[in-house]
Amino acid sequence: MRALSAPDVLRAWEQGARRHALDRALLLLSAALPEEPFEELAALPLGSRDLRLLELRAATFGPDLPFFASCPRCGQAVDFTLSAAQLAVGEPAAQGSHELRSGGAVIRFRLPDSRDLAALDGRPSEEAEELLLQRCVLEAWLDGAAVSAAALPAGLRQELAKAMAEADPQAEISIDLGCPACEHRWPMLFDVLTVVWSDVTRQANRLLQEVDALARVYGWREDDVLAMSAHRRALYLEMATA
Ligand SMILES: [Zn+2]
Repeated sequence: MRALSAPDVLRAWEQGARRHALDRALLLLSAALPEEPFEELAALPLGSRDLRLLELRAATFGPDLPFFASCPRCGQAVDFTLSAAQLAVGEPAAQGSHELRSGGAVIRFRLPDSRDLAALDGRPSEEAEELLLQRCVLEAWLDGAAVSAAALPAGLRQELAKAMAEADPQAEISIDLGCPACEHRWPMLFDVLTVVWSDVTRQANRLLQEVDALARVYGWREDDVLAMSAHRRALYLEMATA
């Protein structure tokens, strides 16, 4: 995974600013992995997508991720740092299709990806669940007879949801937090995209300020300022504002 350059960061930020989070994730990945077709990135299981976003985050902004939370019981602020390696659980157990066998049922399924989430977006939860089932169940048999996804009973649906989560553990990362003041413990979901997008936004704003400051003093073009290394830009900024 290559790091995003300064122009990459600004371009992704500008293109993604008014887009859905799903589009932002794919915009960032395609900037860092230009050789991968967009359709293939969209078809990555969510855990594979998130693992790549975590690698992108580490390559571009560094391996340590700061977190801030407040205790839901007493309000105490809790801040801590985790490394990208600590948050990387790994790729799905298998590529392509997976199988669930339970009692007389056999279900072949694939893992949800960005295209599925886009199709589900904005729908009420029951409808979304039904649609996800239809999209991700490839074939199903009950006691030897082929059935449609819609015909799967509730118990099997729950088993399937569990099997999907187990097959793609990176898709949902929960961090176990403890309050130093009252010792309350609670889980916090880690959304890598929220972290990366806030880094991108912060960096884009800083880059624009740097371009502005240098353009005012030296009259340089945006392209030329962004093409400099961060170190060189910082040295010029020091001189420009001295
Ligand atoms: Zn507390």
